[in-house]
Amino acid sequence: TRAFNFSAGPATLPESVLRQAQAEMLEWNGVGASVVEISHRSADFIALAERAEADLRQLLSIPDDYAVLFLAGGATTQQALLPLNFASPGQTVDVVVTGHWGKTAIKQAKPYVNVHIAADGEPGGFRDIPPRAQWQLSPDAAYVHITANETIHGIEFRDTPDVGEVPLFADFSSSIASEPLDVSRYGLIYAGAQKNLGPVGISVVIVRRDLLARAGQPRADIFNYASHAARDSMLNTPPTWNWYLLGLTVKWMLDEGGVAEFARRNAEKARLVYGAIDGSGGYYRNEVAPGVRSRMNIPFFLPDERLDALFVSESKAAGLLALKGHKAVGGIRASLYNAMPVAGAQALVDFMHDFAQRHG
Ligand code: PLP
Repeated sequence: TRAFNFSAGPATLPESVLRQAQAEMLEWNGVGASVVEISHRSADFIALAERAEADLRQLLSIPDDYAVLFLAGGATTQQALLPLNFASPGQTVDVVVTGHWGKTAIKQAKPYVNVHIAADGEPGGFRDIPPRAQWQLSPDAAYVHITANETIHGIEFRDTPDVGEVPLFADFSSSIASEPLDVSRYGLIYAGAQKNLGPVGISVVIVRRDLLARAGQPRADIFNYASHAARDSMLNTPPTWNWYLLGLTVKWMLDEGGVAEFARRNAEKARLVYGAIDGSGGYYRNEVAPGVRSRMNIPFFLPDERLDALFVSESKAAGLLALKGHKAVGGIRASLYNAMPVAGAQALVDFMHDFAQRHG
């Protein structure tokens, strides 16, 4: 039996997607071979790739003046490729740091550009997003980078910030497709797939086409987004298995009712879990400012950290997996991506009530 899996990523996938992949593992689409055994340049695979892109465009309402890239590697890879592709040597890029992944974006960009921290939530312990009025943006920045949802610290932008003429680049790894999104507010959106879009090993980059004309920095062709766009993400052998699973996952989201439906479910799940925390009479604690609490990743604390291991082992025995908090934050963390049903959040809440009563 499959447990409710609260892993932050790689994360739970829809059971129907896994079942279909299992059924098609040996023979796919009448081609007499598995999808992992055929050429990415075959007509069958190209049709799959085009379908996945069309479905993703429909799911996220991606305008035509944006290219969609399907690239091998993770979000961290994209964090290094952004300055190479969109900033000239020595140019400034602005980064708004609201948690761990903003810091990795800085680390990956630093060898290539002048990184300016326009706002930093770290002095406040990453419990809030610095108010927009306090951001110190550079007028000549190549782009402004934000992390739409900080997976470890559990902080999420609930509105798209206005950064003026400079393109806004956003890491949506842990919240893409979780609610409707106005892509046109961004110059670039990127996401590693392993939370809401499918398996690890493939990333999606949604980029305004005019930005692809930027010279950037000297770089190998394989690190050039424009080359990938010109070759429909088949500059080299793409991760075909991952692309296939991503396509199935996107199709599943469309069939379930699209991002509006997932926004509804995700709000409901978050309401349940934050409700259990806030209604626990102080037994459970979430320290993030209410207005920026993540709907996807909910870190919380018990009254005594010596109870953490017991919470994790008892919840596991109750069929609730992977609730241990990230080591940078400690405590407990529940990740509630699109494939986590409301029933999973309800099961967690029931367990939390029960645990607090037994160990209160
Ligand atoms: N950005 C965010 C918001 C993440 O949650 C993660 C991974 O968990 C990453 C970046 C790094 O992704 P990857 O490990 O695929 O490079």
